[in-house]
Amino acid sequence: ENTYETREFQAEVKQILDIVVNSLYTDREIFLRELISNAADALEKFRYENLTNKNVKDEELPLEITIELDDKEHILTITDTGIGMTREELIENLGTIAHSGSKAFIKQMAEANQKDLNLIGQFGVGFYAAFMVAKKIRVLSRSYQPDAAGCEWVSDGIGNYTIGTATDLPRGTKIILELKDDAHEFAGVETIKRIIKQYSSFVPFTIRVNGEQINTVQAIWTRNKNEIKEEEYNEFYKFIATAYDEPLYRLHFSADAPLAINALLFVPKQNFERYGFSRTEPGVNLYCHKILIQQQAEGILPEWLRFVKGVVDSEDIPLNISRETMQDSTMVSRLRRAVTGRFLRFLNEQAKADPDKYEEFWKQFGFFLKEGISSDFTHRDELAKLLRFESSKSEPGKLISLADYTQRMKEGQKDIYYINGPTREIIEAGPYLEAFRARDLEVIYTHEAVDDFVLSNLMDYEEKKLVSADQAELDLPALDEKLDGEQLDNETVQSLTGWLKEILGNKVTEVKESKRLINSPAVILNQDGMMTSSMQRVMQAVNR
Ligand code: ADP
Ligand code: MG
Repeated sequence: ENTYETREFQAEVKQILDIVVNSLYTDREIFLRELISNAADALEKFRYENLTNKNVKDEELPLEITIELDDKEHILTITDTGIGMTREELIENLGTIAHSGSKAFIKQMAEANQKDLNLIGQFGVGFYAAFMVAKKIRVLSRSYQPDAAGCEWVSDGIGNYTIGTATDLPRGTKIILELKDDAHEFAGVETIKRIIKQYSSFVPFTIRVNGEQINTVQAIWTRNKNEIKEEEYNEFYKFIATAYDEPLYRLHFSADAPLAINALLFVPKQNFERYGFSRTEPGVNLYCHKILIQQQAEGILPEWLRFVKGVVDSEDIPLNISRETMQDSTMVSRLRRAVTGRFLRFLNEQAKADPDKYEEFWKQFGFFLKEGISSDFTHRDELAKLLRFESSKSEPGKLISLADYTQRMKEGQKDIYYINGPTREIIEAGPYLEAFRARDLEVIYTHEAVDDFVLSNLMDYEEKKLVSADQAELDLPALDEKLDGEQLDNETVQSLTGWLKEILGNKVTEVKESKRLINSPAVILNQDGMMTSSMQRVMQAVNR
C-alpha cells in the first residue's frame, strides 16, 4: 500500500530554501558540485559498509554516478548506486537540519550584502543549492538494507514536500531536477561537462554524462612533485576540503623509512571552529596504494591536527583495517608519529622562511598547537618551537618565539618570564613589570587565558624554566643602582604589614615587604606552586 503524505519543512530549512530559491547568485552551477559530492559520499558509505556486510541490496551494481540530460524537456537527472535512504532517512536528511552549521549559514547570509552561496556545502546544507536551478525536485531512493522499501520525495522548495513509496528501485538515489525557465543551460552536455571538470575532477568514482565516462580517477599524491601544476594542487585541495579558496600551506612528501609514505597535506586559510562551528572533523583520508581505506580517518594525525586536510597513502597499512582496529594498531601510531613529525618540521621551516605568513597561520590555528602541547607529550618540544607571543621587547602586534627570547636573555638570567593580561596596555599599566623593567628583563605577554595553562604544562624550554611573573618567590638578579627614596626600618615594616594582614584577613595568606616594586605601593602575588590568576579563570570557566 502506498502512503503518500505531505510534510512541512523544519523552520530552519524553510529559511535556507527562501534564501536559495530567491537567490540572484551568479555561480549557480555549484549546485552540481553539491549533488555530485553527496553522490560520492553515498557511494563511499556503501563501499565501506560492503567491506564487512555482504547482505546488501544489488551487491553487483557498479559504484558510479550517472547524469542524464534531457535538453528538450529541460530535465537533469543524477543517479548514484550508493547507500541510499529509507523513508525515515529521507525525512531526516532532506527536511530537517540537526547540526550547527545551518544557523551560521543563515546568519552569514542575512549579514552579507554580497550573497555568496558558494559556501553552502561547507555549512552542511549543500543539497538545497539545487533549488537555485530547479523549480521542482524528485528524489527516488532505495536503501542498501535488503528489506527497506523504495521511496519518493518531491518538492518545489516552498514550505513543504511530499513523501511516498516507490517500487522496483535499484539500490541508490536518483535525483530529478525540473529546471527553472532561466536555467535551461544546465541540461546542455557541454555545460555540464565543463562544470564537472571545474569542480569535480577528483571525485574517486566514475562519472558518466549521457552514457560517456568523463573523468579519470586520479591519485595526484602518487605523482612526481615536479610534474604537478599549482592549479592541479589547488583543485585537488578544493575537492578534498570542500573549499572554495586556495590553501594557506601545502606539504607534499614521500618517505621510504621507517614506513613507506606518500602524503599530500593542506592547511586551509580559515579555522572554522573559530567562527563558532562545531568541532572540526579529521580531514585526512587514508589510502593504501591508491585504494581508499578510510575517509576522514581518525588516528592518522593527532586530534589537535584535525584542521589539516589531505591524503596519507601507505603500503604498510593493511587493507582490511577497520575503524575500530585503527585505534589500537601500532602501525597506525607509527604512521601518525612519522607524519606529525614531518608536518611540524614543515611548519617550523615555513615560520623561518616567511614569518608574516606564519603569523597568519598562527592567528587562525595557534589554538590547536596549544591544545597539542597540553594534551600530547610526544611532540611537545617540536610544538614549543612553534609558539608565538608578544613581549615587552616585541613591537606592539608583532610576535616572538621562545627561541627569540632565549637568544637575547641577559647574562645570569636563568628563567623565562611571562605575564597574562587581556591587552599589552593593561599589562604595561600594572605593577608586575616594574621589577623586570628595572633589570631590563624581557617578559612574554600572554593574552589568552589558556596561555598560562599551556606554559605551565610545558614547564621549560631548552632547559630554562617558564615562570609566571606574578609568582611570589622570584629569583631575580640584584639591581645595580641603589634605589632612590628612604628605606623603612624593620619595626615600621612589621607594624605596617601586620596592620594590612589584619585589615585584609582571610583574603590574603601573607603580607610581606617586597624588593621588587619600583613605583607601585603594593602588588598581589601568587603563592608558589599555586595556579596563576589567569589559570584560575580557566578552571572557573571549565567548572561552571
Ligand atoms: P551534507 O552533505 O553536508 O551532509 P547535504 O545538504 O548536501 O549536507 O545533504 C544532507 C544529507 O542528505 C546528507 O548528509 C546525506 O545523509 C543525505 N543525502 C544527500 N544526498 C544523498 C545521496 N545521493 N545518497 C544518500 N544520501 C544522501
Ligand atoms: Mg553535501
